Parts: sequence; structure tokens; C-alpha cells
Amino acid sequence: MIAERETLEQRSLLPTNFGSSRAVHNDLREMLDGVKISKSGIPVQKILIPEPMGFCAGVEMAINTLNEVVKQFPDRNLIGYHGIVHNPYVIGKFEEQGVNFVDEVSDAPADSIVVLSPHGTAPQVIEKAKQDGRSVIDTVCPLVTKVHNEAKRMVEEGRIIIYIGHEGHDEAEGVRGYVPPENFYLVESEEEIDELAKNLSPELPVAILTQTTLAQGTWQPIAEAVKKYWPDVWSAPKKDVCYATTNRQEAVERLVQEQGAEIVLVVTSEQSSNGKALVYKAVEAGVESFLIKTVEDLSEIKDSLLNKVVGITAGASTPAQQVAEVIAGLSPENGIEFMEGVVEEQKFHLPKELQQLINEQIK
Ligand code: SF4
Repeated sequence: MIAERETLEQRSLLPTNFGSSRAVHNDLREMLDGVKISKSGIPVQKILIPEPMGFCAGVEMAINTLNEVVKQFPDRNLIGYHGIVHNPYVIGKFEEQGVNFVDEVSDAPADSIVVLSPHGTAPQVIEKAKQDGRSVIDTVCPLVTKVHNEAKRMVEEGRIIIYIGHEGHDEAEGVRGYVPPENFYLVESEEEIDELAKNLSPELPVAILTQTTLAQGTWQPIAEAVKKYWPDVWSAPKKDVCYATTNRQEAVERLVQEQGAEIVLVVTSEQSSNGKALVYKAVEAGVESFLIKTVEDLSEIKDSLLNKVVGITAGASTPAQQVAEVIAGLSPENGIEFMEGVVEEQKFHLPKELQQLINEQIK
């Protein structure tokens, strides 16, 4: 199968029917329409696409915001903080449109427009970004804001925060900013809880917060370990892992256990926590799984793919084009099947700062 690469790359990064997970499926279907079957791809038996997959509402909102900023403010210095989303493919598309990306807000020029990522940003960093005449637009996902609010409330109650997440991840750094350093413990394993218990009194009031993008198999044993030492621990009643993470993981589980995928490819990036969680989930469900960044990665796993039923999903920051380009490297004997699953209707409003900035420009 050969994708018409130029056509794919010219398309918008957003689904046409913005705000619904089925839109990602529809976009992918459209992109694959007219794509010719070629014998030059790696021969596989069939391709299965689960639902949902790809963009979540938080990422859509952030990308739509930056698209709007590019359109409305062509003469300003436009800066994305921390890549906006964890996907070099998306970042590259914005760089082509003149957006520069920085890892330190102090590196953003004075008077620039700085767009912060949906993973959330520490309040101290936001304050710094606002200095020197910079305009700041915060695309923090409301579901991450929920965790920030929980952190603030737990601090007010005098609790120690045990945060289950990845060290150095943007979301973890954002939450850390809401908690005094001496009250914040980031943990990635049950062993770290055992170590922590040697130094923290069992009498202390403790709360568990969780990164929104973790696999259940990752956070649950750690949370259980915390409960062993601090039985009265507070944790979010409906847990912090978000709907998009949960739905994509459950779709992968169905793909393997009910729909017959013999191997699962996850189109995502090395930086994507939820993308890596999908690989973990597929392996947990019983098949081989690989993180795929571009179609070039397929040649390295050719032997694993040959004549298999291949499930292909994508992380929450992966656009449909990127998936279509990977699919173009395979030749499915029995075609591509789109599985039906959970349809997500979540849609998040664009940040109020964007409208304010547009209004200021009109005055
Ligand atoms: Fe929001 Fe979940 Fe998407 Fe993160 S993965 S941006 S929490 S919807």
C-alpha cells in the first residue's frame, strides 16, 4: 500500500469533525480512501483499528489554540512551551508555520506569545512567563486542572502528597508546583513506597495523586502499597487517570482479547506517557507490541509482523496523518477493519486568554 504522502502532509492536523473520537476514525478512513494497495509494503494478514485511538479532547484543544494563534498573530513571535504536545511530528508541523519551541520560558523573547501545554504548568513558571511583556495562553487540560485543585486542597488539609507518575514528565512538574517541596514525593514503583515508609511516619496524613496518563497495571500496585502503610490515605474518588487514557487502554485490551489482533503497533513518540502505557497494556493483554514513530520503524520489526493480524492504535497526541503514513508501510491481504467502540464526545473550550488577546488586538 502506498500513501499519497504529499496529500497527507497537506492536510490539517485536526480531525474534520472536531470534538469527537469518531472523527479521528473518519479522518483516517478518508485519508486511506484512494490509497493504493502495493506489494512493496510488509505483507500482513489484516489491519485492525480500535476505537477510540489518537487525539484526546485536551490535545485537540491545545492544537486548535496554537492553530488559531498562528492565524491571528502572524506578526508576533510565537512560542510553544515544552513542545505543546509530546509528538515531534506535530511540533514539526508548527515549526514549519513559524512557531519556535522552548524548554525554559525565560528563553522566549520579550513581547512574544507563549502557549503553555495541556499537561499543565507550575504556577511559578506561569508567573515567570508573564514577565517582560510576554502574553501567555495556558492550554492546560481541565482534567489536569482537576488534579492541581486536588493538590491544593490536600496541601490545605496538611497532607503529604504521594504522586504516582514519571519523574521529569511535564504533568508531574506542573503538579509539583502546587505543593511545598517537603510535602511532595514522586514515586514510580512499589519499592520506592517501601523506602518512603522507612522515613515517613505512618501517623502522617497522606494523599495519593496520579498522573492522568498511566496504565492501570502501573499505578494500581503502587497505590495498594501506599494503602498498606497509610490505610487512611486520601485518593481521588474517581481516580486521576483520565477518560481518554482509560478508553484507549480498554480498546487495546478488546483488540487483543476479543477482536483477534496478534500484534499491536502504537503510533506515538518516546516522550508520550499515554502512548507507552498502550504498549504496556497490549503486552499485558498477551501479544507483542511496539512503539512506532514513523513508517521507517517497521523494517526493524518486519519478522514479527509477517502475515499477522496487526492492531494499530495511537497515543493521545498522535494525529491521524501520522497513523496513515505508518499504515502505508504495510500490505494487508484482507484489508483494514475499523472496530467500533466507545465514542467520546468530550470537547474542551479554548483558553479564555486567547479570546482576550484577540479582543485586545481589535481595540
Ligand atoms: Fe487531558 Fe487526558 Fe488528554 Fe491528558 S490525556 S490532555 S488529561 S484528556
